[in-house]
Amino acid sequence: MKKFSKIMIPTVIALSAVTSTTAFADPQSNPNGPYIENEQNISLASYMSNEDLFKTLQKLEESSKGKMKLDIAGYSNLAPHGYATETEKGSPLYVAKFGSADPDKKRVLITTQIHGNEQIGTEAAIDMIQKLSSGGREVEEILDKVSIWIMPRINPEGADNQFEDKWYPTRYTHQTWDPAAIGLPTGTAFPWYYNADGSERAQNNNGRVVYGIPGYDQNRDYNPNLDFRVEDQDKTEVAAFLNNKAANNSKNGGLFVTAESRAVSSVFKEFKPDVYVDVHHRGFNTVSDKDNRSVPVQLAAVVATQSYKDPFSGKTYEVDADALKLGKQVNALSYLSLQRGFSHFGAIQKYPDVNLPGTALGAFALNDAAIMLIEIKGQSQTLGQKQSGMLKETVKAPLYDVFKALADGTIHNIDTKIYDDIPEASNSISDPTTREADNGF
Ligand SMILES: [Zn+2]
Repeated sequence: MKKFSKIMIPTVIALSAVTSTTAFADPQSNPNGPYIENEQNISLASYMSNEDLFKTLQKLEESSKGKMKLDIAGYSNLAPHGYATETEKGSPLYVAKFGSADPDKKRVLITTQIHGNEQIGTEAAIDMIQKLSSGGREVEEILDKVSIWIMPRINPEGADNQFEDKWYPTRYTHQTWDPAAIGLPTGTAFPWYYNADGSERAQNNNGRVVYGIPGYDQNRDYNPNLDFRVEDQDKTEVAAFLNNKAANNSKNGGLFVTAESRAVSSVFKEFKPDVYVDVHHRGFNTVSDKDNRSVPVQLAAVVATQSYKDPFSGKTYEVDADALKLGKQVNALSYLSLQRGFSHFGAIQKYPDVNLPGTALGAFALNDAAIMLIEIKGQSQTLGQKQSGMLKETVKAPLYDVFKALADGTIHNIDTKIYDDIPEASNSISDPTTREADNGF
């Protein structure tokens, strides 16, 4: 969700631009960096390809001795409900299931890599699946009370994107806007989150690379009306909506035009999770002017600040007060879980409150799920696999504590004020070099 920062906190960006010139002599953060130099190659070699991921998940299912069931929730760019896409069937979207959709158990759904260039969440998810698969008394106690479904890498096309015969992960899905295929007039404007030319930030944010495969920001394609299907709507109404710039924007939910968002939403509807966690990557910050620790993660329990009125059905969706409370408790416990003396693990900030009904977190929060957004620092274009061990830990450790606290009920004892008091996002670090500024944030 890196794109929010410029919109939400312009004063912070402006301040950091002023202060960054004076900070050149000193490291921008501790550990230093974060931006690597142009001549340094960004290594992604340790990250899993789609094929590696599948093989790993299969092995883990076998070794779990029945604890984990590996299912396919759908395929990228498949043609569900008659919506024909350019390629009929892409890569599988896996769901690793520990326990059933039992309403008597607490249920946690975790998704990673909705943006294909945000790998570490997936690597952390694999470690979590491994730990839960391996069993032991503590795991048994968790799984006795809590069902956990994990979808690692819900954007396999962006994750495995190639550019000039090299692996070049991108934010977007692969799919071409084809209004005629869904019965809309030719020339109908595309959803605002469509990337028509297939472009992505270049390595180190050094301009843009046009890789040439159009696609969508899947994380704007969700809708609080989980049953919304563009092909079932009045086509005149949909065309008018898309052609109206005052409607076709982030204030409204997405149109579920991607197969990926449909697959994830169908898992959500079946599982009805109490807690939904989505793992992203973002930019770089230090904690404050006085504390130059590099922020490893930002967290958030709020991605829908307002109720949502579906412009098509007129139905209204609200964030449930109990779900919001549980979401704050889950985020607060995650924060506490990483406080390990004055270490980098604990240098956490709160992601700004945003109102984005078209994100998975926003749409699911408006359907009674407690949510946690985890935003790991850096993108594959800026950080590569640097610090990936430490950053994986900042995802795994809190989530494991959340599982335990949901199992024994202690999550309900957490004071939500701890969440409210997490330091706000600030001290954004801008790229120090003279490289061309990126306008895509
Ligand atoms: Zn993201």
